[in-house]
Amino acid sequence: MSIIDIIEKKKSGKHLTKEEIDFFIQGYSKGEIPDYQASALLMSIWFKGMDSEETTNLTMSMVHSGEIIDLSRIKGIKVDKHSSGGVGDTVSLPLVALVAANGVPVAKMSGRGLGHTGGTIDKLESIPGFKVEMDIEEFIEIVNKVGGAIIAQSEELVLADKKMYSLRDVTGTIDSIPLIASSIMSKKIASGSDAIVLDVKVGNGAFMQKLEDAILLSKMMVDIGNSLGRETVAYITDMNQPLGEAVGNSLEVIEAINILKNKGNERLSEIIEMLGGESLKLGLKVRTIDEGKKLIKKCILNGSGLKKFAEIIEAQGGNSKIIDNHSLLPESKFKFSIKSPLSGYLQSVQTKILGQLANYLGAGRTRKEDKIDLSVGIIFKKKIGDYINNGEEIAIIFANSEEKGKQTSVDFLKLIEIKNEKVDPIPLIYYRVSREGLEKLY
Ligand code: URA
Ligand code: CA
Repeated sequence: MSIIDIIEKKKSGKHLTKEEIDFFIQGYSKGEIPDYQASALLMSIWFKGMDSEETTNLTMSMVHSGEIIDLSRIKGIKVDKHSSGGVGDTVSLPLVALVAANGVPVAKMSGRGLGHTGGTIDKLESIPGFKVEMDIEEFIEIVNKVGGAIIAQSEELVLADKKMYSLRDVTGTIDSIPLIASSIMSKKIASGSDAIVLDVKVGNGAFMQKLEDAILLSKMMVDIGNSLGRETVAYITDMNQPLGEAVGNSLEVIEAINILKNKGNERLSEIIEMLGGESLKLGLKVRTIDEGKKLIKKCILNGSGLKKFAEIIEAQGGNSKIIDNHSLLPESKFKFSIKSPLSGYLQSVQTKILGQLANYLGAGRTRKEDKIDLSVGIIFKKKIGDYINNGEEIAIIFANSEEKGKQTSVDFLKLIEIKNEKVDPIPLIYYRVSREGLEKLY
């Protein structure tokens, strides 16, 4: 077998065998196949695509390139949730607590933020003492004891993806559906959960800008998961504006707490209830999603989700007093209130640039080794369709540099459009994609 033949074959649009895919992944992981040949193959995949079987084989081959986590010592069906990446996407923290509070174990491995999207691990690190790195034994012990834990994805997980992602990033091959699907699913499969709920974002703050592409990506990931024995369901949800109100790490932890205190933003709560209901169904706690949603809501109203969140924080070494005393979280030096310069309806938000603006304040990183400022960010209170009065406070900028705060206050207003014409709120949840097919939800 030769890599040149494999490149030629894909270049002419032919189906690659499992052996050919394994040959490439093993050779590339070991450094036997150089970047220039790997780039040629990735670009051929970008142009010619891959079918479901090839993508599943690629995923499994990637899984075997690194460490595979064995969670079999956790009793019950372990459910994992993964978002394809968004702005103000504060779903995982409350969701883990609410699902665990219902007795379905959650052993979640998360990533850090990269690019304009935030990452769960960075958010958790704003909680004083919270340990995101521990060995698998301790992780399993905590899940068995309190029902849920969230740790940083191991450095050894899916080594092929680390190399391939960096290469894709500089060769214009990120936005390929089979390459994204195998990248996400290999990490989910290797991290050991039994069932997977995917939140595939679509819109101007997401990887996928078009609904058709989000559907294709979702179908492919659901196919891969199910054919590998992991029950997988995807939701396609809107990212044409931040999901919640907070963008920034400690700000999003406060927002997560507010959700658990039933004081959270409506759109954010709705997604949490939906994904939570689905998680309880996959965990065989309930038979229908509606039953699951009711249990999730109940755990918000009776405070058991909040109590579970406190238990998880304590079990991972953090200070759960942050729940009632937010001043224990990192706080920025400066706050700038942004007032609307005119009256009208909020028409649109440039979501990706808003995420980048929070990064400019220090909330995110552009390179993996960048250090981030956990206290800074943006709170944006309005959603598309809301009426705004002239002079009304619409956002607050949290900054540690006066100059950056002022600049952000000016730039922020360029990212939103307010006009007289009335507009309707935009849909939140577009589709559910499962082994039964595609279900329209708007
Ligand atoms: N997230 C991933 O993990 N991989 C991709 O290719 C895209 C998004
Ligand atoms: Ca098992």
